Amino acid sequence: MDADLAARLLEVDASIADAARAAGRDPAALTRIVITKFHPTSLVRELYGLGVRDVGENRQQEFTEKAAQLTDLDGLRWHFVGQLQTKKARAVRQAASAVHSLDRERLADALDRAGTEGEPPLDVLIQVNLTDDPGRGGVEPSGIEGLAEHVAGCSTLRLRGIMSVAPLGEPAAPAFERLAGYAERLRTVVPDADWMSAGMSADFAAAIAAGATHLRIGSAITGPRPERR
Ligand SMILES: *Cc1c(COP(=O)(O)O)cnc(C)c1O
Repeated sequence: MDADLAARLLEVDASIADAARAAGRDPAALTRIVITKFHPTSLVRELYGLGVRDVGENRQQEFTEKAAQLTDLDGLRWHFVGQLQTKKARAVRQAASAVHSLDRERLADALDRAGTEGEPPLDVLIQVNLTDDPGRGGVEPSGIEGLAEHVAGCSTLRLRGIMSVAPLGEPAAPAFERLAGYAERLRTVVPDADWMSAGMSADFAAAIAAGATHLRIGSAITGPRPERR
């Protein structure tokens, strides 16, 4: 067992609790997702041993492989947070408890088709692009309501909320305030879609202040990522 890992997890959780209290929010209402990309499955096992039950990945192949190797970890929830090709939607749906990066109608349709009526719906979040660079992923803010209406019509999906990544080269706090405004717009379409997935290692306190409910934290907990494989 890696003592440093346990210490970093404790430290981040304490910082999350501090930020929540400073914002007048209940720390217990926040979900801390540990992003384990590029790390081996052994790290996910260690995290599980430390009580972590929500983990996330951003690439389909790695996501699928790790989830398949860790099916013995009862109650572990896998969050998919990366850009997703339509043709990989079925593979992701097989292991995902939530997909945070839904950014277009065709992807919603592909995820929906991969589901089965009568089974619990897949939790999905609409990713919004807070930058002018389309390559960063996410729907343009002007497209939020239209996409939300489309997702609401997909019978095997449940729209839970909004997700974004803070822009580079801009302070995170005002960007997350904009995101909170977009979250409100989303709720004009689906009133109970009240998840806000925002905040990474460098900016989770600002995200919590702006109302984030789901934090996606990688390196502050896992340590530096190994070289990209
Ligand atoms: C990698 C990643 C994170 C975590 O990043 P850290 O800076 O390591 O905390 C969060 N969200 C997404 C979408 C990511 O790809």
